[in-house]
Amino acid sequence: MSPISQNLQAVQARIAAVTQSALRDPQTVRLLAVSKTFGPEAVIEAAEAGQRAFGENYLQEAVDKMAAIKAIRPDLSLEWHFIGPIQSNKTRPIAEHFDWVHSVDREKIAQRLSEQRPPHLPPLNICLQVNISGEDTKSGVAPEEVAALAKAVAGLPRLQLRGLMAIPEPAENEARQREPFSKLRLLQEQLNKEGLALDTLSMGMSADMDAAIAEGATIVRVGTAIFGQRTYAR
Ligand SMILES: *Cc1c(COP(=O)(O)O)cnc(C)c1O
Repeated sequence: MSPISQNLQAVQARIAAVTQSALRDPQTVRLLAVSKTFGPEAVIEAAEAGQRAFGENYLQEAVDKMAAIKAIRPDLSLEWHFIGPIQSNKTRPIAEHFDWVHSVDREKIAQRLSEQRPPHLPPLNICLQVNISGEDTKSGVAPEEVAALAKAVAGLPRLQLRGLMAIPEPAENEARQREPFSKLRLLQEQLNKEGLALDTLSMGMSADMDAAIAEGATIVRVGTAIFGQRTYAR
């Protein structure tokens, strides 16, 4: 077995174990394989091991990778999630090439994605990125502004608002890791009480996925634990 498929099995086993101890159905947690900085071969290897959903942060890298994969393996049907920061002049390729966007934090970006989503494609699935740890350097909408943004996005015709996403600052132990994830879940519950129908909590990465699953994550975004350490010399 290749290292990538072994790693995928280990991560899936981890999801199964943590959902079980949290008394959750393992089917309610989806694994998003974050393939940024890794080439088309790595994605194909993961896809051959049964992985279907892939996350990318850098637009040009992602679009090139998708084209390369299509050329080598036109038979593969993959689902692509954009999880990186979005520049407002780069929304069109995102609207054209992705199935999900996890990092929407401004109404203007959402409006552009809706306008630019090609009519032959289904609505683009959207998560709002929330600045849950309150860091000034991180992107994400402030928790007190999420409701207004969510209502605006829910009204856009070519988008399907699915839920919330967060990247909390690193914490030293699992109890500490759980705090921001719990806040994000409460925020989602609040929005649903206000009449929205959010079914997605995109939270948890290689280092904190256990804490995120325990707090209700429905998508975990895992890179390093599947593909190995990244080198940023791109
Ligand atoms: C890189 C990245 C991940 C994956 O992180 P790992 O620590 O490698 O699992 C998840 N989410 C986002 C938004 C990322 O940028």
